[in-house]
This record gives sequence, structure tokens and C-alpha cells, in this order.
Amino acid sequence: MTFTTRFAPSPTGPLHLGHAYSALLAFDLARAQGGRFLLRIEDIDKGRARTEWEAQIFDDLRWLGLDWPEPVMRQSERLDQYRAALEPLWQQGLLFACSCSRRDVRAAASAPQEGGDPVTGPDGIVYPGTCRDRDVRTGSSALPAGCALRLNMARAVARAAPLTFVEEGGETSRTDTVDPESAVRGIGDVVLARPDMGTSYHLSVVLDDAAQGVTHVVRGADLFEATGIHVILQRLLGLQTPIYHHHRLIRDDTGKRLAKRDDARALAKYRAEGASPNDIRRMVGLPPGQ
Ligand code: GLU
Repeated sequence: MTFTTRFAPSPTGPLHLGHAYSALLAFDLARAQGGRFLLRIEDIDKGRARTEWEAQIFDDLRWLGLDWPEPVMRQSERLDQYRAALEPLWQQGLLFACSCSRRDVRAAASAPQEGGDPVTGPDGIVYPGTCRDRDVRTGSSALPAGCALRLNMARAVARAAPLTFVEEGGETSRTDTVDPESAVRGIGDVVLARPDMGTSYHLSVVLDDAAQGVTHVVRGADLFEATGIHVILQRLLGLQTPIYHHHRLIRDDTGKRLAKRDDARALAKYRAEGASPNDIRRMVGLPPGQ
């Protein structure tokens, strides 16, 4: 398989230095291996994705000196594929419909019988299970639409094996294992289809990386915990697990991780102030581009 990396931004705000680092690292790695670098637009969140941000992302990345094959994959055009992937999971009784709001989840998870503070995982409060046993349609009827679908994590880890993935960074490489027990307790029944979009970040990213033949996923260490979910989904969906490279996070002067709303760190601002692409490379600790 061709060595393939990707950068997969969500067009919900300006790219900042952290994104530049991720994109440049993925691009440099692919180039060093004579491989491919792909761009994917993760625009399933219709309420937050904006075409103006997308245009700015393309412009910033080209300015940084990156190029990629066109047309790019756009998640909003793949909703049918996401739904098709949910079908076998539903038939196998691995999903359940959930009508809980965020507030319901918080209230149920904080209830005294749950024993103290709610456990928080990569998607926030671990689902306390309210709808898990309530939905008896599982498997025997058609895949429900227009409601949230959650993965029954206990059933999922009982079927998904082996739960290993390779984490590579610089010169080192190690095999990590997702612990089934911790997945049930610390991640829980994650949402695979949101009612408003029919999919979720986790489902889409796993299907897209596989569809695009991505061999090396280069992304920030903040997504490391989510990788456990992705490996479980890859096993359930019969997909190959790429090699992961979770890179260090670029932080601001106070040590805080940069966020989309940190406009002060937006690439556009550095560009407007006259920085060159190699200045950006230097700021994030990468060698000059060729
Ligand atoms: N779309 C995600 C983001 O902008 C990145 C997903 C990934 O790299 O897996 O944070």
C-alpha cells in the first residue's frame, strides 16, 4: 500500500499553529517516503461548518506550500456510506437508539446511585446506560433514522479483537492495546450517529481513513484517547488499522493548548503580519520546506 497521510480539518474556524504543525508534519512524512498526502474536509457538523472557513483553510495550506490530489474528500458528501456502515452494526445488536439529551446524561450520571462524580471519557461524560436496555428493537427491525445511535461498548469489545495498534513517533514505534474493561468504564456507549447528522466524528473518520487508503494517521495527542474507539470500530467493520502518530500539541505562551477560537494564533494573522511559510515551520519546530 502506498504510504499515505492526511490532514482532516473541520471548517469551523481558522487554522492556527497547531493545525499548521499537523498538516506540515503529515505532508513532510509523506514526501520523505515518496507517498501521498491527502486533504479531507470534515464538514458533517452543518451547524458549525462554513464555506468561508473552508476557503481560508485551502488558502492557508497552499500558502504553507502544501499540495494534494483534487477533488478532496468531503464528509458531507458521504452520508449514505456512513449510514450503510451502521446497518450491519445494528443487525448485530451492537447499537441502540438513544433519546437522552446532554442534560439527561449529566443528570443520570450524577445521580447518587451512580456513586459520586460522573466518569469523563474522550466524548465527555460516560453514558450511564439509560436507553441501553430500553430499546428492544435492536437487530430485528430496520435501522432507525433521526435519532441518536450509540455503540453498546460492552458488546462491542466482546466481539472486537485484536485491539492493538501501532503508535509511531520519530524513531520509535510501539504496539498499544486498548483495554476492553477500560473502554467500557472510561469511554462507554459512544454516539455513532447523531440525530442531526446521521453519523459522528468517530464513525466518519474511521470509514474515511479506510476508504482513502490512509496508512499513517498523523494528528494531535489530544485525539489519542479517541483512537481506542477507532480501533474498536475498525475491528467491528472489518477495516485495517492504520499506523498512528499522535504528535505533541502546540501550546501558547502560558502552556495552554491552542483552540480554534484562539484567533490570536490564527495562521491568517501571522500571514498578515508578514511571516513566511518557513517562519511558521520554525515556530512549530520543523525544518525549512524544500
Ligand atoms: N477533524 C478533526 C479536527 O479538526 C481531526 C480529525 C483527525 O485528525 O482524526 O479536529
